[in-house]
Parts: sequence; structure tokens; C-alpha cells
Amino acid sequence: MILKGKMVTEKLIERLRNISSKRCLGIIKVGTDPGSSAYLKGIKKTFIKTETDIIINELTNNATTKKIKESINKMNKSPNINGILLMEPFPKHIPVDELIEIIEPKKDVEGIHPYNMGKLLLGKPKIIPSTPGAVLELMDFYKIDTTGNHTVILGRSNVVGKPLANLLLRKSRLGNATVTVCHSRTKNLKEITRLADILIVAIGRAEFVKRDFVSKGTIVIDVGINMKNNQLVGDVDFESVKEIAKAITPVPGGVGSITTVCLLSNLYQL
Ligand code: NAP
Repeated sequence: MILKGKMVTEKLIERLRNISSKRCLGIIKVGTDPGSSAYLKGIKKTFIKTETDIIINELTNNATTKKIKESINKMNKSPNINGILLMEPFPKHIPVDELIEIIEPKKDVEGIHPYNMGKLLLGKPKIIPSTPGAVLELMDFYKIDTTGNHTVILGRSNVVGKPLANLLLRKSRLGNATVTVCHSRTKNLKEITRLADILIVAIGRAEFVKRDFVSKGTIVIDVGINMKNNQLVGDVDFESVKEIAKAITPVPGGVGSITTVCLLSNLYQL
């Protein structure tokens, strides 16, 4: 079964259309990273559909930390802005952690402020980061049961792997999973991934997960977005893995397509 994101997205947008009050997202983008520009394009497209406003502050590559902090503080204070998004990656000289900490937690649309991450770790998230949120929405739509199932996550980043692992451990629906998190130092990776009922991959390596990583009957969720030969591909080698997996998400058209709608949904929640 191919787990496409389109129907999930349509369902979520329909839910948001019924909310009449206006919302506005403040975005801070520094530099010209192509991935970040593509994500911004996707956000604009989704937000137009629901008539949600965006205010973008685009700064040049050599912007100082002080200047970016001023921009965040201005958005923190603005009564017209309901949520703030920092478009990563930022240029190397910018201490991103410092920036995240000054976002007003009530306007933290990605749930990355230490307060919101702490709530998530304790199993009571106020806001769910949009990429893990997209994975959960996809699982919910396709009725993928996580309870008691061995879920292996490849990748331990603060935006995907770590929050997702903690969400799947919650004592709740779409939780109660037995979670294993793997990373670049994990030994015998294939032996672990072959034990998965559900395999979620977020490592940023084009088509890294091949057929021999997966057992028959595994559900494979590919979070990766990479460019290979001018084409968008996931972290999973879709063609070979689809032959053995019980179900698999495509790239593009899988998790990534749901993420921007989850971001929008977070804005309304804030
Ligand atoms: P990241 O911050 O670079 O983290 C990558 C993680 O993968 C790290 O934990 C790293 O391990 C691990 N890793 C790297 N190579 C590995 C290997 N060979 N074997 C096992 N683990 C390995 O990346 P990210 O921000 O989480 O993003 C991951 C992927 O998801 C990227 O392709 C990105 O474009 C995509 N993404 C998609 C969405 C979406 O909306 N669908 C959103 C965000 C990101 P160490 O910790 O040991 O370094």
C-alpha cells in the first residue's frame, strides 16, 4: 500500500476551513538556503488556500545575531502575530539555540522552545512540532496501530527523531509503542531495522535504506527530503523497499506534503 499524503492534507485543511478567526504567522528567514526557500514556497501555497496571513522578515546571510533577536522580539510583542517560525538552516555564525530560547513559548509554532519540548517529553505537549505531527496524522489517517508495536526511528535530531520518539511513547492513542532510536553511531543497523513493525526514517541520506533493511510486513515511513540527480528523493530507496514493505510513503507526496498543513494547524492552535 502506498501511503500518500494528499488525502491526509485535504482532511486537515477541511478541518481548518471551519475556523473563521484570522491568524498570522511571522517568519524569519536568513540567507538563501535553497531547501529553506522551497519550504517557504510550500508554506505560502498552503496558507493562501486558507487565507492565513504571513509576515516575512528576510535578512541577508551576514545578518548579526543581535539583528535577528530584535526581529524575534518585535514579533513576540506584536498583537498581530500569533506564531513565529525560524526558517532553518541559519548561517553557521548564528547560535540558533539562543534564538529559539527567546521566542515567546505561546508563539512557538514549531514547539521547539525548551518549555514546549519539556512539556512534550513529559507526555503533555502543548504544541507538536510539525514534522513529527505530520507522521502522526499520516498514521492516524491510515489507521496504523502503534500500541505495543516495535517502532524503529532512524535519526535523533531535535526536530524529528527525538520528539517523535517521545510522542510515540505516550500513554495514548498513536502512542504506547516500543521505540528504538538509531543514529550514525548505531552498530548493526540493519539487524535492528529488520526487527521493526514500523520503520520511520529521518537521516538526510538519499535512498540510504534499501530492501535488505526491511522485513516483510514492515510499515515504512520516509521523512527524508533530498535532491539526487535533480530529483526529490527520500531517505528510503522506494523502488526496492516497496516490493517488501507492507506499506510505504512516497517522496515527494508523503510526509512532506502534510508538514506545512500541520504548521498551519499549530498556528490556529496557538
Ligand atoms: P539532521 O538534523 O541532520 O539529523 C539526521 C539524523 O540522522 C542524526 O541523528 C544522524 O545521527 C542520523 N544519521 C545520519 N546518517 C546516518 C546513518 N548513516 N545511519 C544512521 N543514522 C544516521 O536531519 P533532520 O533535520 O532530522 O532531517 C532528516 C531528514 O528529514 C532530511 O532528509 C530532511 O530534509 C528531512 N526533513 C523532512 C521534513 C518534512 O517535512 N518531511 C522536515 C524536516 C526534515 P547523529 O545524531 O549521530 O549525527
